[in-house]
Amino acid sequence: MPQLSSVYRKLEEGAKRLTPQRELIIKIFLNHPGEHLSAEEVHRLVRQEFQDIGLATVYRTLELLTGLEILERINFNDGRARYEMKVREETHRHHHLVCLRCGRVEEFQEDLLDPLEDRLLQERGFRVMDHELKFYGICAHCRRQGKKEWE
Ligand SMILES: [Zn+2]
Ligand SMILES: [Zn+2]
Ligand SMILES: [Zn+2]
Repeated sequence: MPQLSSVYRKLEEGAKRLTPQRELIIKIFLNHPGEHLSAEEVHRLVRQEFQDIGLATVYRTLELLTGLEILERINFNDGRARYEMKVREETHRHHHLVCLRCGRVEEFQEDLLDPLEDRLLQERGFRVMDHELKFYGICAHCRRQGKKEWE
């Protein structure tokens, strides 16, 4: 996986060792692309291999990896932090589609903001380096269980 070498480099830059627990947590994220896992969900997956590991340790590891810019912490306003891989091929961040009914979070990979980014540069002299966009709405799955206003 090409991402792994950047992960190792970031650990090295941060002078952090790749402990088995850290490695497992990184692999969990690599094996769940497009998912946005909470600390509790990561904990559940970690415990399949390390029975004794506590939630606090998982939480500390997630924060450490976030500090090293290997993971990114995102808040979808549902009361708990979620994490995803920050190390990716993309230059600009993907967008998130957040369902207000079931809480499902989907990724939308196309940037589609080039015209806006160009305009900001031309009109405001502002160079966009990245962005974070969340769309709140009703997902396709929930819409099928249909209410009139979701059509
Ligand atoms: Zn962009
Ligand atoms: Zn939904
Ligand atoms: Zn995402």
